[in-house]
Amino acid sequence: LATETLTLQTILNEIADTMNASTERGTVANYIPELAAVDPNQFGISVALPTGEVFNAGCAQQLFSIQSISKVFSLTLALGKIGDAVWNKVGREPSGDPFNSIVQLEHEHGKPRNPFINAGAIAVVDSIMMGHEPKEVLAEILQFVRYIANDNSVAIDEKVALSELATGHRNASLAHFMASFGRIEHDINKLLGAYYHQCSISMSCEQLAKSGLFLVSDGVNRVTGKQIVSSQRARRINSLMLMCGHYDGSGEFAYRVGLPGKSGVGGGILAIAPGKASIAVWSPGLDTIGNSKLGTLALELLVQRTGWSVF
Ligand code: GLN
Repeated sequence: LATETLTLQTILNEIADTMNASTERGTVANYIPELAAVDPNQFGISVALPTGEVFNAGCAQQLFSIQSISKVFSLTLALGKIGDAVWNKVGREPSGDPFNSIVQLEHEHGKPRNPFINAGAIAVVDSIMMGHEPKEVLAEILQFVRYIANDNSVAIDEKVALSELATGHRNASLAHFMASFGRIEHDINKLLGAYYHQCSISMSCEQLAKSGLFLVSDGVNRVTGKQIVSSQRARRINSLMLMCGHYDGSGEFAYRVGLPGKSGVGGGILAIAPGKASIAVWSPGLDTIGNSKLGTLALELLVQRTGWSVF
């Protein structure tokens, strides 16, 4: 094991060096002003193993906005609270459309294709509100993320949430459009407030990698010994991440990386190598679809070097 772990650290160092030398970084999300201000010249990677070992390279401790990666956590929470009733609110099919697209909603009577596009994630938050105030729902989401990450310092970046609120016309349209089909149960402003704050959770690569450990080991975080979900549910969340986690770039991500993964417009990606490792990468520059450019490349290199693809 000593040589294996030494090799893993060497691989991560090499990947970080390659990424830091790259000049093709993509562009930071510019539709959310707070995110547009983030320095694109940053790269971090963290690999958490079920043994409790964690390997880091680059700025793996730097906090960033997890954005849509939070959709994995809110889905997990919703499944825990209402079980399969979640699937009355959202589907389980890849959308093939951009993350903020509205077009399919018209054809499918306001039911979003999957929980990882914006419309789907807003519907998931609606399903966990259950008449509560946004503050209470957020406390619950945050508590859950802290629990799975085994880290009580995880927090929400209020500035990012307000920045999203101020510019969130598209998300408001999605929510109103779903509501026009009678699919939204709560006050839309409260619902969007909760959604924006969920997206504005700040985490480091290391915190994020640790939070994915339950998806590595059949629903159990082997480091804390806690069963977060059943093994069947863990497998199902992983398959949704593989099929839908990168929006209309999900096929390309599966082709290049071959792991369940979830991206966010903050430039983070959480990827799961079942039975092996939970991996978080972060680099704020995005490709045209809104997925981290160097993050994807780093995962592609890591899988090539470790053979951790699920295929
Ligand atoms: N909060 C972002 C939004 O609603 C999340 C999008 C993303 O990360 N793809 O636009």
